[in-house]
Amino acid sequence: MIQGKSQAEKTIIEYIDAHRDEMVNVWKTIVSTESPSIEKAQVDKVGQIICRELEAAGASVRTEYVENRGNVLIADWHADAEKPFLIFCGHMDTVFPMGTILERPFTIRDGIVTGPGVLDMKGGLVIAIFVLKALEAAGYREYPVRVVFVGDEEQGHRQSDVGKRLPSFIHGAFAALNFETGFPSGGIVVGRKGSCRLSLDVTGVSAHAGNCPEQGRNAIVEMSHKIPLIHGLNDLSHGTSVNVGVISGGTVVNAIPASCHIDIDIRYTDRTRLDAVLAKIQEISDTNVIGGCSCKVTMQSISMVMEPNEKNHALFEHIRSTAEDIGYGVVTPITSGGWSDSNIISHEGIPVVCSMGVIGEFNHTKKEYALCDSLFERAKLAAVSICRMQAGFAETLNSHRE
Ligand SMILES: [Zn+2]
Repeated sequence: MIQGKSQAEKTIIEYIDAHRDEMVNVWKTIVSTESPSIEKAQVDKVGQIICRELEAAGASVRTEYVENRGNVLIADWHADAEKPFLIFCGHMDTVFPMGTILERPFTIRDGIVTGPGVLDMKGGLVIAIFVLKALEAAGYREYPVRVVFVGDEEQGHRQSDVGKRLPSFIHGAFAALNFETGFPSGGIVVGRKGSCRLSLDVTGVSAHAGNCPEQGRNAIVEMSHKIPLIHGLNDLSHGTSVNVGVISGGTVVNAIPASCHIDIDIRYTDRTRLDAVLAKIQEISDTNVIGGCSCKVTMQSISMVMEPNEKNHALFEHIRSTAEDIGYGVVTPITSGGWSDSNIISHEGIPVVCSMGVIGEFNHTKKEYALCDSLFERAKLAAVSICRMQAGFAETLNSHRE
């Protein structure tokens, strides 16, 4: 049983308990408003619902317009130019196409919640909203909070300029809590791998497979020499994974194929190791087994690592000790191979912890579920942890090394 120590902490816990139904209703409303990343109007609808909720918490809300993807919602709660602020971040888009809600409507059965995006990460958005409301009710005023909810995180902002604009939205923050998908272990993420996407295109020579095969230069065969070499760059003991995930090539079966294309996803923990892998891939691309074939590397994107640095650990430690003190239970620090906006925040030198949202499993799949009670428990944990961020906290946190 979670129990607050001070009057303000008790008020927070009472507030969350008294608003359980309302929290679930908001959760149901935003899950039922489907918001696949590509449907700007739908994502913006979720933004409008959340805007009203955040205004009710006392925040002043604005939207940053984004072309073709959901707008960014920015809410300032008790903004004070003299003070650094805390960021709540999250994303309003999901990976599920429109219509999924008809197959899997928002449902709670035996404490298990299902529906598109319940876990990733609409439950987390509800937590962020009600943490603010509880802090408002408890009269917490030490640090201002800025909420930054984006609309295309699931696409890594590859189709928008949000990734580039994000640093300007978070400038001036002393720390960030990301209410992303919680893990079944209940661990809180202090580090995430960086990712890199690139592609290779082999160009060969096309020829009729029956009349003059000797004139052809088979691009598929050339690529098939390269793939095992690329796969061989996997180095899991150092956190580097290399995946050739997509392949296409040729046109018809009776022609020597003149082209072959692959897409590669790399995850890494150390930039020098990534650079070494990229240099190897360039070498593999340049070295052709079949004379007359050539190969080109195209870089698509590189995202930064969220280092499990001392700042993140110090922020985690504040939450861990709060959890223990109020009877929430044991919380452990974990690292993840998946990317999130926390990578961008961390790269800006801001202490951040991630996966503070509802707990569950199987995000991005039909089996996605969240534990209903984690909605309330994690809201209490986050709100009380913030309530314990008193004068000097921001300075102490940021005195740790990156
Ligand atoms: Zn997510």
